[in-house]
Amino acid sequence: MTTFVSHLEAAIDGTRIPFGRLVGMHADRPVWVRYDLDRIRQAVTPAAIANRPPTLWRYRELLPLPLDAEPVTLGEGMTPLLPCPRLGAELGLTDLWVKDESQLPTGSFKSRGQTMCVSLAKWLGVTRVALPTAGNAGGAAAAYAARAGMECFVFMPADTPTVNQFEAHLYGAKAYRVNGLIHDCGKIVKAGADRMGWFDLSTLKEPYRLEGKKTMGLEVAEQLGWTLPDVILYPTGGGTGLIGMWKAFRELVELGWIPAGKLPRLYSVQAEGCAPIVTAFDKGERFAELFPNARTVASGLRVPAAVGDFMMLDTIRESGGKAIAGKEASIASWMRRASGAEGISVCPETAVCFDVLEGLIERGEVRPHERVVVFNTGAATKYLEAMPVELPAVDRDAVAWDKL
Ligand SMILES: *Cc1c(COP(=O)(O)O)cnc(C)c1O
Repeated sequence: MTTFVSHLEAAIDGTRIPFGRLVGMHADRPVWVRYDLDRIRQAVTPAAIANRPPTLWRYRELLPLPLDAEPVTLGEGMTPLLPCPRLGAELGLTDLWVKDESQLPTGSFKSRGQTMCVSLAKWLGVTRVALPTAGNAGGAAAAYAARAGMECFVFMPADTPTVNQFEAHLYGAKAYRVNGLIHDCGKIVKAGADRMGWFDLSTLKEPYRLEGKKTMGLEVAEQLGWTLPDVILYPTGGGTGLIGMWKAFRELVELGWIPAGKLPRLYSVQAEGCAPIVTAFDKGERFAELFPNARTVASGLRVPAAVGDFMMLDTIRESGGKAIAGKEASIASWMRRASGAEGISVCPETAVCFDVLEGLIERGEVRPHERVVVFNTGAATKYLEAMPVELPAVDRDAVAWDKL
């Protein structure tokens, strides 16, 4: 096996775990993948990567799948980093960018995590996987499991957006609605592991989804000429995106591909109806408590308890950023405002980021000329419930021109 992975490492206490066999959590907490970065530095350069196909697999040496194993892929990445001058001007920013993850397979950044964890699971001999989902993860897992020829079981809260229910079914998964929230679904997946013989692909309950999400950070760095923005806003649920991106930046600094001391401030954005990380951040805690009565149409953010809470909170603090909640009532208006300004399909989770960004600018915490990157983590078209639309009618025989 050809790999640059040196070992796995328990996030809670640093225990070393050998790479190459099936691993879930350690002490009920997540596990990091660690690399031999000195060997990677000798094996590959940014210039070599520049000549590779534009998918996230271009960063192969920095990913956990051994070089002699075949990825399970739908051609995912590299997503465009789009300058947004019109939306920037509305907000009072001169250098605003959106990293548009809505263009990935199954319409969200969840495909980054799934291409990675399903590839590793397949390499390790898994034939049956299961996961809980609050939204997009189920469809992505179902699609990649189909691609790998694996069986996939998906458990989702009964009020998960219709399109997410549809896509899990569409891609051939055994998908179920549960009378509870995502952590209740997670308990079912955990309880079934032995009896049903499935491997648990829950967020951060295996080491490799995080490595897939890490590629968002690698792509941003490469797209900005191996520099990083001043500020990143990221909508945070289970936390893999936020934690993965920061891990990417740290690895790039250690490789010497980006300068140290110029890392962005990460703003972790949640919706006020489900903001456990914001609550813990404000209290100065390292672990979050279960957020009661979690409710938000930004379904990717409806994660009332996360096993990676301390990893998120460590990341946010280390970056000099903050965890901030946006207003539920502003979601539909920001979806339309941002999508209408730039032609990008802005999901509810990202709409919350724009609400938070507006506040940061008003309070002077983000300054007008700073380079700001907002992640559009999914496609608005998957969330018909978030912005119900009934178009005005036109009579084919009597168009009221003055009313158009
Ligand atoms: C899952 C999801 C999120 C939250 O991502 P995490 O990595 O779980 O924090 C945000 N936006 C969308 C569209 C999602 O599907």
